[in-house]
Amino acid sequence: MSARVIDGKAVAARVRAEVADGVDAFEEEYDTVPGLATVLVGDDPASHVYVGSKIKACEEAGIRSFHHGLDADVSQAELLDLVQKLNADDAVDGILVQMPLPDALDQDSVVAAIDSAKDVDGLTAVSAGLLAQGRPGMVPCTPLGIMELLDDAGVEVSGANAVVVGRSILVGRPMAALLTNASATVTVCHSRTRDLAAVCRTADILIAAVGSPRMIQGDWVKPGSAVIDVGINRTEDGLVGDVDFAPAVELAGSITPVPGGVGPMTIAMLLRNTLNAATIRQRSAARAV
Ligand code: NAP
Repeated sequence: MSARVIDGKAVAARVRAEVADGVDAFEEEYDTVPGLATVLVGDDPASHVYVGSKIKACEEAGIRSFHHGLDADVSQAELLDLVQKLNADDAVDGILVQMPLPDALDQDSVVAAIDSAKDVDGLTAVSAGLLAQGRPGMVPCTPLGIMELLDDAGVEVSGANAVVVGRSILVGRPMAALLTNASATVTVCHSRTRDLAAVCRTADILIAAVGSPRMIQGDWVKPGSAVIDVGINRTEDGLVGDVDFAPAVELAGSITPVPGGVGPMTIAMLLRNTLNAATIRQRSAARAV
């Protein structure tokens, strides 16, 4: 029997429409709209496309965007100075510094400089610490979007055996924390994991976030499981995920395609994080008066 193919575009469209409604309500209540600042250093074509899509999505949702394009040879001090200005700017509720930065810049100290209240990418140590402790805070957009997809597909997370392949700060680690917080029993795999196939076969929920085309083979998939493919790999056959989709779809209970699965959720959750950050800032400003 073939799996249910999870339609990430449809779920993302629903989230984006909800955010647009939320922005209308926000404007009515606070007489302003949420603002997202994007910072793009250099001229990497893929990064330009990503940031362009984020700005367009903001406009469609009624979120104001403030874009800062910097030359590739910008100094660390100039970039940190811009982040500090955005931290202090009351019109800015969220700050997104597009990664990766050019090699000459220290990514970690730039992320560390972002005010955690405006950390809509969820990458600061404060956000990661709050997530690890199961406390409210900003959560990275891609794993947050995956939780939304699981929920929309009716996948029972509590008590499930979840296997996350990949341990990056952007995807694997926050994914494992979110699943743990939702009471799954979580195994995190990486390049040193022994017998990855056997571990994957135990997964009721399998998250593939490796960046290696079709690495997760069909017979690694537990029959009836939920398979979420985060991978985006450009190959001669076009865009493919980390999961070998054709055999996996025959075994899984539900599965995300690439493209059209996890990808559209990332921007949708960025919009939601920005609206949430703006709402929290307005409420704490009101309390301070
Ligand atoms: P990353 O930082 O390169 O991390 C990859 C992870 O995979 C690492 O933890 C690595 O293990 C592990 N790994 C590598 N080879 C492995 C192997 N043979 N067996 C088991 N684990 C292995 O990548 P990322 O940023 O997490 O991204 C992962 C993929 O998701 C990429 O294709 C990326 O393009 C995609 N992505 C998609 C979205 C989206 O919106 N859809 C968002 C973000 C990322 P070690 O830690 O041991 O090196």
